[in-house]
Amino acid sequence: MNILGFESSCDETGVALVQAEAVGVPRLRAQALHSQVAMHEAYGGVVPELASRDHIRRVLPLARQVLADAGATLADVDLIAYTRGPGLAGALLVGAGVAVSLGLALGRPTLGIHHLEGHLLSPFLADDDAPSFPFVALLVSGGHTQLMRVDGVGRYALLGETVDDAAGEAFDKSAKLLGLGYPGGPALARLAAFGNPKAFDLPRPLLHSGDLDFSFAGLKTAVMTRLQKLGPNVCEQARADLAASTQLAIVDVLTAKAVRALKDTGLTRLVVAGGVGANALLRETLDARAARLGARVHYPPPALCTDNGAMIALAAALRWQHGLPAADPAPPRFDVLPRWPLEAVSHS
Ligand code: ATP
Ligand code: MG
Ligand code: FE
Repeated sequence: MNILGFESSCDETGVALVQAEAVGVPRLRAQALHSQVAMHEAYGGVVPELASRDHIRRVLPLARQVLADAGATLADVDLIAYTRGPGLAGALLVGAGVAVSLGLALGRPTLGIHHLEGHLLSPFLADDDAPSFPFVALLVSGGHTQLMRVDGVGRYALLGETVDDAAGEAFDKSAKLLGLGYPGGPALARLAAFGNPKAFDLPRPLLHSGDLDFSFAGLKTAVMTRLQKLGPNVCEQARADLAASTQLAIVDVLTAKAVRALKDTGLTRLVVAGGVGANALLRETLDARAARLGARVHYPPPALCTDNGAMIALAAALRWQHGLPAADPAPPRFDVLPRWPLEAVSHS
């Protein structure tokens, strides 16, 4: 079974070919990715219309490259998967349109995949370190911060989520205030390496709320007021200190809630997915805290933490293996779902 996957929900065009047998972890045969980060950088964030147009330009060349790299042709493709949502409507329509048209032309089924399902199953693409069910998933991306209980493929229960900004958004907005580039997470982490994380006492909202919800909007406001106090001629060291303090505040909250989720559920495996999962301090801290609990943390390969086509093809492969709806109900009609709760694809 060869699955060609398309991701185009935001500012990355991703295509990948995944091979799956009836049992066993599916294998990534090839993948290609084009990030639009440089294009959106000048605007300080993603411009939806520019994103859609760039997906159109990139998607077919990337698909050709993936097939060539895998030594395959379109005739080898058995199923075509695409990100159906959530994401930017225009951007989603590009991947969906290409996938469904290809399916129609080749006489192959298509399957619309939930973007977050892709993220949270992506650790299965780690060659030697695939997690086993059940596990707690900490999903920390640009648009989402959620803790899920995952009992199997398609069995997701929301344990808690952010009531305002996502963790990635907190990184991005704080980085912008600090005059760093977009996306802010990696830039802020680089600056933080030169700073003292104890220099500023920043809020850790909902840290002791007793539940598994998050709130990051107040942190961005706190960074702003600290910067105002420091004045326009703030020195490099103070900026680095503030970056380090911000990073530590975010990591502290994410770690505390993830540990609480492990304790509450009694599970011993934590899967971290989404772009913020690439953060080195988060990985170090989670590993250390989990070890004390006798728990293990699984991560996707760093390159697959942010959006990519491999996770979409993989999610389709795992759904097929588990006998879940293996194709869209009524092609060639298709829609995309810019807002789509993950629990909508979960069966009890
Ligand atoms: P969603 O999946 O919720 O729709 P998204 O796909 O845009 O959002 P991802 O691509 O998974 O999100 O992740 C992007 C986010 O990850 C950005 O906010 C970025 O700043 C953050 N990020 C990436 N690398 C790091 C890092 N090393 N440290 C902290 N944050 C990071
Ligand atoms: Mg992105
Ligand atoms: Fe994403």
